[in-house]
Amino acid sequence: MTASRRPLIAGNWKMNGLSADGVALATAIADKLKGAGDVSFEMLVCPPFTLISRVADAISGSGIKLGAQDCHTAEKGAHTADISAAMLKDLGCDYVIVGHSERRTDHGETNELVHAKAEAALSAGLDVVICIGETEAERDAGKTLDVNGAQIAGSVPGHAKAANTVIAYEPVWAIGTGRTPTNDEVQEVHAYIRAELAKKVGESEAGAMRILYGGSMKPTNATDLIALADVDGGLIGGASLQADDFWGIGESC
Ligand code: PEP
Repeated sequence: MTASRRPLIAGNWKMNGLSADGVALATAIADKLKGAGDVSFEMLVCPPFTLISRVADAISGSGIKLGAQDCHTAEKGAHTADISAAMLKDLGCDYVIVGHSERRTDHGETNELVHAKAEAALSAGLDVVICIGETEAERDAGKTLDVNGAQIAGSVPGHAKAANTVIAYEPVWAIGTGRTPTNDEVQEVHAYIRAELAKKVGESEAGAMRILYGGSMKPTNATDLIALADVDGGLIGGASLQADDFWGIGESC
């Protein structure tokens, strides 16, 4: 964490939540933020598509940012069941996550597709959270830096700016497992990502761009992770479904 980059605490609710519990969770987080007054971090919640509208109402006026978990590459058209970035913007979203490892694995999303989704999001006026990260086999094979470097090169638009783009480094083997890399390993990868970003978007934008850590972040490990020089917040799955845990991670900033 560096004073010039405001930490972002982002919750990815994944495919969780029906109306009542989704609204209750959003309301509980909004109440905490309103009660806290000015905070040093930015907070973002990314509910499933079905809850975006209700969550928008629940967090209205709280300062919490609203995001979605995916978008299509096209602005509109014959793409049954898909959702465009323009539709998300129209619903009140500020952000969209693209390239989450569960999308890359479950839906075969490639760096090229993630790049196209990021372009669509930026064109629609959304900020984008671009996810990258190595699998356990890739880490064991000593390919962590190469894999993340290739994902930066392939997924991040060259005109991305620190003001509209966030990178989330999420080791796939740490997601939902309770396992995390060591703090030294996290810092090593984040510093490498920033150096690779500089090749893509230039030194100055790379220096200002937020790089989140994701993968089993909890209130108990967040303080040490977010204190690392090149970690600028977290993308949080499981712990974002409990208001106290999610808020606790924010407080660790
Ligand atoms: C995620 O899927 O983005 C994530 C980080 O999940 P978890 O916090 O549950 O590991």
